[in-house]
Amino acid sequence: MQVPLLDLKPQYQQLKKEIDETLIRIAESQYFILGPEVEKMEKAFTEFLGCKYAIGVSSGTDALLLALMAIDIQPGDEVIVPTYSFFASAGVVSRLNAVPVLTDIDPVTFNIDTKDIESKITNKTKAIMPVHLYGQSADMERIVDIAQKYNLRIIEDAAQAISAVYSDGRPVGTIGDIGCYSFFPSKNLGCFGDGGLVVTNDDNLAELLLIKRVHGGKPKYFHKVIGGNFRLDAIQAAIINVKLPYLNSWSEARRNNAALYNKLFVDKGLSQGEGEIAFDGENKVLLPRAVYKPAIQNEKMKNHHIYNQYIIRVEKRDELRDFLAKNNIATEIYYPIPFHQQECFGYLGYKTGDFPKSEFAAAHSLALPIYPELTESQITYVVDKIEQFMT
Ligand SMILES: *Cc1c(COP(=O)(O)O)cnc(C)c1O
Repeated sequence: MQVPLLDLKPQYQQLKKEIDETLIRIAESQYFILGPEVEKMEKAFTEFLGCKYAIGVSSGTDALLLALMAIDIQPGDEVIVPTYSFFASAGVVSRLNAVPVLTDIDPVTFNIDTKDIESKITNKTKAIMPVHLYGQSADMERIVDIAQKYNLRIIEDAAQAISAVYSDGRPVGTIGDIGCYSFFPSKNLGCFGDGGLVVTNDDNLAELLLIKRVHGGKPKYFHKVIGGNFRLDAIQAAIINVKLPYLNSWSEARRNNAALYNKLFVDKGLSQGEGEIAFDGENKVLLPRAVYKPAIQNEKMKNHHIYNQYIIRVEKRDELRDFLAKNNIATEIYYPIPFHQQECFGYLGYKTGDFPKSEFAAAHSLALPIYPELTESQITYVVDKIEQFMT
């Protein structure tokens, strides 16, 4: 049996007719950048996410960069970022000659450890950038409290988490000052190239985001501020317009797949259940936890994780990965090296051992296939092979 990490073809087959018609319509219109498809998409997101402004941009990375430019991050300013994330989260801070100030992660959720934030705040700190890693919300209530106390901005990196909700029901990305999303094809809502979105409820920030998306000119060719080319293509927006109505059903399918993995790992005696953080005799496979706060009783809120990735942790991760590859099961390591150990961030002066929970995650995490169209027999095959390796 073959189990790819991600297979986008079944999703295209499901929507082929609508998508093909859309692509032809855009070819015939010869309207390629911003314009009616992008405006339609932006309106759809203000409704879907319940926010005041949604602005299509050229990628998730550009969404983050534009957001930092909109809050006027200057050289030397400090932005607090978890050390364990996709490179862009810290890369954009450095690109503005600002300083990514790193924190460790919570070992249960893989998200920023809010206990680690306050000690990092200085008089140069301008913003906190929580990342909703793998599709699960960071602890936003705590982050908002800290930001208010120190008068900091919050830029949410929701690239992996579009449609995930925080435990109070608010969609991630709409809680801080600006939320940033990616439509990279491997995200839960992917376009046919690069694309992204920024959202905000703040009138002034929305104005700045809109102007800086097109080089900062307003009116055109008259520049009070410096922006960039962060424009979204019509084709990408049109693809998102076709796909958005299906997003919740795809997230549901991912959650069902995750629940099946969890059940099979527990049934086979490889795990004690979700949210364990240490290996011992009974816990050979550490499972992700889908509930941020165990006290939350509301059924709807229990399911806020959208599983852009389903991440287990195992002791002999690299050996397991090779074994699965030999059995035609694709996996990936997100992410093998935290920012503080990346060569390019050596100038920040961190050292190995500074963020033990992130280093543990980097050494043991393995992403298993989780995409919506996986079959029960594929998932069972993956767990069977992991059991075979472990016993
Ligand atoms: C994918 C991703 C980005 C960047 O998005 P692109 O659209 O690929 O530029 C940023 N942050 C995180 C956490 C991501 O997963």
